[in-house]
Amino acid sequence: MSIAELQKMDVVTKAVPTAQPLRKIVIAVDGPAASGKGTLARKIAERLGYAYLDTGALYRAVALAVLEMNGDPSRVGDVMLAVDVVKRNLTLELLASSLLRRPDVSEASSKVAALPEVRTELLEFQRSFAKNPPGEVGGAVLDGRDIGTVVCPDADIKFFVTAKPEERAQRRFNELQWHHPLLTLEKVLADLLQRDQRDKTREVSPAYPANDAYLLDTTKLSPDEVLDTAIYTVQKKFLGATDDHA
Ligand code: C5P
Repeated sequence: MSIAELQKMDVVTKAVPTAQPLRKIVIAVDGPAASGKGTLARKIAERLGYAYLDTGALYRAVALAVLEMNGDPSRVGDVMLAVDVVKRNLTLELLASSLLRRPDVSEASSKVAALPEVRTELLEFQRSFAKNPPGEVGGAVLDGRDIGTVVCPDADIKFFVTAKPEERAQRRFNELQWHHPLLTLEKVLADLLQRDQRDKTREVSPAYPANDAYLLDTTKLSPDEVLDTAIYTVQKKFLGATDDHA
C-alpha cells in the first residue's frame, strides 16, 4: 500500500492550502468511537492545509474483507489473508464505502486491531504518511487510537478527544439509523462500550491518552467549537498567532 495509492482515496483528504505554518508539524488526534475525533482531525487538516489520514478506515477495510471471506476476525490466519487482499484491492470505492461503517464491521475492526500482526503491517504506512505527508502541505493530521502513543509518539501536538458514552451513542445512532432502521440506541451504546473496552484492554497499543495529550471533552460542544479550541491550541503552541481563534 503506497501513499500514492491512498492519496486517491477518501481516507487521505487532499489538503486545501491556506495559511501555511512556519514548519511541518504532525498532529495526533486520538479518542474512542464517535467522540468527534474524525470530524475534528479532518477539519484541522482543512483549516491548516495539512494532509489527513483516518487510520481507523484501514482497520475497517481489513475487517470488512475478513467478514466477506467468512473468516474469523479474531483468528490471525484469516485476518492476515484479509490484510493481503486489502493491500492488493484497496480502491477509492472500498475505503469511501458506507460498508465500512456497518455495525458488524465496527465490531470486527476492533477485533482485527487487537492482533499484533495486523498492527505491524499497518504501522509503517502510518508512520511514513506522518513523516512525508503527500502533497505540498504544511504537515499531517492522523486520527485513531494510538497515534500519540505508538504511531507518532513524537507528534508535535496531541489531542485526546472524549465525550460521554451516551452522547457518543446518540451521535452514532443518528448516523446509522437511516441505513439500519432496526438498530436501537441501546444496542448502539452496548456495542460502543464493548468496543471501547476491547480497544482499551488489548495487549498491543491499547487506546489511552498520551501523557502529553490535550484532553478535549466534546460532550457539550458543537464541532465548530471543538475545532476552534484545537486550532487555538495549535496556533498558540506553534504558529505564534491566535487572532483567528473566533
Ligand atoms: O476510528 P474508528 O472507530 O473508525 O476505528 C475502528 C477500529 O479500528 C477501532 O475500534 C479500533 O479498534 C481500531 N483502530 C485502532 N487504532 C487506530 C485506529 C483504529 O486500533 N489507530
